[in-house]
Amino acid sequence: LDVAVAEGARAYELDRAHVFHSWSAQGSLTPMTVIAAEGSYVWDGEGNRLLDFSSQLVNTNIGHQHPKVVAAIAEQAAKLCTVAPQHVNAARSEAARLIAERTPGDLNRIFFTNGGADAVEHAVRMARLHTGKHKVLARYRGYHGGTDLAVNLTGDPRRFPSDRGAHGVVHFNGPFLYRSVFHSQTPEQECERALEELRRVIELEGPGTIAAVILESIPGTAGIMIPPPGYLAGVRDLCTEFGIVMIADEVMAGFGRSGKWFSIEHATTEAGPVVPDLMTFAKGVNSGYVPVGGVAINDAIAATFTDRVYPGGLTYSGHPLATASIVATINAMEDEDVVGNAARIGADVIGPTLARMRDAHPSIGEVRGAGVFWAIELVKDRETREPLAAYGGSSPAMAETIAACRKGGLLPFANFNRIHVVPPCNIGAADVEEGLRILDEALFVADAHTA
Ligand code: PLP
Repeated sequence: LDVAVAEGARAYELDRAHVFHSWSAQGSLTPMTVIAAEGSYVWDGEGNRLLDFSSQLVNTNIGHQHPKVVAAIAEQAAKLCTVAPQHVNAARSEAARLIAERTPGDLNRIFFTNGGADAVEHAVRMARLHTGKHKVLARYRGYHGGTDLAVNLTGDPRRFPSDRGAHGVVHFNGPFLYRSVFHSQTPEQECERALEELRRVIELEGPGTIAAVILESIPGTAGIMIPPPGYLAGVRDLCTEFGIVMIADEVMAGFGRSGKWFSIEHATTEAGPVVPDLMTFAKGVNSGYVPVGGVAINDAIAATFTDRVYPGGLTYSGHPLATASIVATINAMEDEDVVGNAARIGADVIGPTLARMRDAHPSIGEVRGAGVFWAIELVKDRETREPLAAYGGSSPAMAETIAACRKGGLLPFANFNRIHVVPPCNIGAADVEEGLRILDEALFVADAHTA
C-alpha cells in the first residue's frame, strides 16, 4: 500500500501539471486519486478504502477488476490486439450476437463506436438518412454526451456553452411528477399531459421535418425519473404515427442498471414490449474496462443501407479488446445473475431503506428509482420543494454532505441537488446496507440546512 500511495502522490503532481480534465475550470481542481480498486471498493491517494456508490460514472456495473473480464482482455491482447473495422473478428461477431440477443424486438444489428456520445451521433445520422428528414426532438433533463451534436441534444446546462441553435434540435418536456411542468397530481395525469405535449411539439414543428425523437429510457444524470406507465409506449405510438425514428438512449440505463437488461423493458405493457428503432449503449456493456459503445439497429433502418453506403465509420469500431471484454462481461453477468441481483437489491434493500430515510430526514424531498439506479432529491424545504442546490449549480450544503459521505468511507454520485445511489449491479446486500448507513449519517449534514 505504501508504494501505491507514493506512486499516487507522484501521479497527482503530474496530473496537476499536465492533465486537462473534463467539464472543469482547471485552476480550482483537487481531483481524488484512485490507487486501486476491487469489486465495489476503491482506494484513494491516502490509501483510504471507499465504497463506490457511483460505479465511477455509473459504468462499473460488474464492479472493479472482475477476474473473468480482466482475463478475457489479457487473452485477447495476447491473441490479437487490434484489427481494422472492415475485417471480420471473432470477438466482435460474438459481442454483436450477445447484444442483439438481449435487445428487444428486431434490433438485430450492432454498430460499434468508442463510447456513448459517438453512438448517439451515429444513431442520429442513421435516422436522418433513413427518413430523409433533419430535426431531432430531445428531452429537457437528459444527457446524451459531450460531442457537438450529442451535447446539443443534451437537456441540461452542459449544453449552454456549445448551443448555437444550429443543430436541428428541439427540446420538449418529459414526465417528472415531483417537479411537474404540467401541474399534474398523479402519474396518470403526468403521462397523459407529457404525451399531449410531445404531440403538440411534433405538430407545431411539422412532422415532415422531424427525423427522430431521442430520450433516455430512464433519464440518468438528470435525475433517474422512471417514466409513468404508458409514457414510452405512447412515445413509440407517436413516432410510428408520424414516421419518426424512436431512439432510446440506454447508455447509462442499460445492461442491468435498473434491474433489467435494458430499462425500456420496464415500459412493457399488455400490448407487448416497447421496441425503439435504434438503441444506443456504452458504459455497462463491458463496465467500461475498455472504451466502447454502439448502436443497436432495427431491420428497417439496416435495410436502408443494404444497397446504399452508410457514410460513417471509426478506426476502432468493434475493437478486439473492447469486444472481447463485452463477451466476457455479458457471459459473467448471465452466469452470476447480475441483473437479477440488481433487481433484488433495489426491491429488498435500497428501495425500503431509502423510504425510511425519507421519513427521517427533512432534507429528502423524494426518493425514486429501480434496481441499483436511485436518486435522492434534496431540498431546503419539503413544502416548497426548493432544491438544496440550484439547477445547474452546487451549494455549500451539497458540498458538505458529499464531504461527509467521503469522510464516512463512501464515494457518492452527485448532481446539482441530488445524490444518486448507483453502486455496481453485483454488489452484495451487506455492502449496500453499509453504504446506506454512511449516507444516512451524512444526510444529517443536509438536514441542518433545511428550513
Ligand atoms: N448518453 C447517456 C444517457 C449518458 O449517460 C452518457 C454518459 O454519461 C452518454 C450518452 C455519453 O457517453 P460517453 O461519455 O461514453 O460519450
